[in-house]
Order: sequence, then C-alpha cells, then structure tokens
Amino acid sequence: MDSVRNISSRKNIALVAHDHKKRDLIDWAEYNKAALAQHDLLATGTTGTLVEDALGQPVRKFLSGPLGGDQQIGALIAEGKIDVLIFFWDPMEAQPHDPDVKALLRLAVTWNIPFACDRATADFLLTSPLMYHEYACAIPDYSNYIKRTI
Ligand code: PGA
Repeated sequence: MDSVRNISSRKNIALVAHDHKKRDLIDWAEYNKAALAQHDLLATGTTGTLVEDALGQPVRKFLSGPLGGDQQIGALIAEGKIDVLIFFWDPMEAQPHDPDVKALLRLAVTWNIPFACDRATADFLLTSPLMYHEYACAIPDYSNYIKRTI
C-alpha cells in the first residue's frame, strides 16, 4: 500500500517560468495574490525575484534554472518538501537546460506532486478546495524497485 505524506493547509508552492512565459506567470501570480499569500513560495532565481517584486511576498529563491535551480527544486520534490509545482515551460523554444526541464517534470510525476504547466491548469489547481485544507498525499510505493535484484 502507498504511504502518505500529510500536507498542511499552507502549501509549499514552487514556481518556475521560462523567459517567454515569465509575463504569464507574473500576471497569474498578481491575479491570485490573495490566494498565494496563504502559502509559502519557492522559485528558481529570476522567476523568484520577479514574483517577489510583483507580490511583495517573500519567495525562497534558488539558483537560476539553467544554473541548477530546476534541479534544486527537483531535489526538494524527491525529499517531500514541495507540495505543488507551477512550471510555465516554453513549448516554442529549446532551452539550454532541457534535460533539467524533463527531469523536473519527471520527478513531479514520480512523487505524485500536483503540477500545472499552463495558466488554465494553474487556475484549476489554485481554486481547488484541497489547496486550503490538509491533504493526505499518497507516496508511490517504490519498495519493489529498491529491493530489486540485478
Ligand atoms: P529562472 O529559471 O527563473 O532563473 O529564469 C527558470 C528556468 O528556466 O528554469
């Protein structure tokens, strides 16, 4: 059976946006300022600075994405320290850190993290009642994988 990670009503929300998607993310964040104030925000470097300036709310900032920020957020997902990921990646432009982008999306699925990659999904996520209540988030069972014989 899956074990469970109990997520409090105050969520750790990680924010990442590629350069041509940063305006979209800031618009979304400003529109949802009151809702986001009920949570703790983390972000890659440049995205975090922009969100902090736009909202006047502190954001825990990591390295810029191409310099390792995506991987830092991925590591926190693996450690069970990120509850929600908002990741506005750019479908129209290759990134120098495309492998890191893929890795971040993969870890979000690996650890059953709710995540949104566009504004509509981000709107649906942020307006979910579960964002404002405790939630028992299932942790997928990888014990057979860990115990595998090779
Ligand atoms: P940035 O990184 O917020 O530092 O621009 C985002 C990314 O490209 O992963």
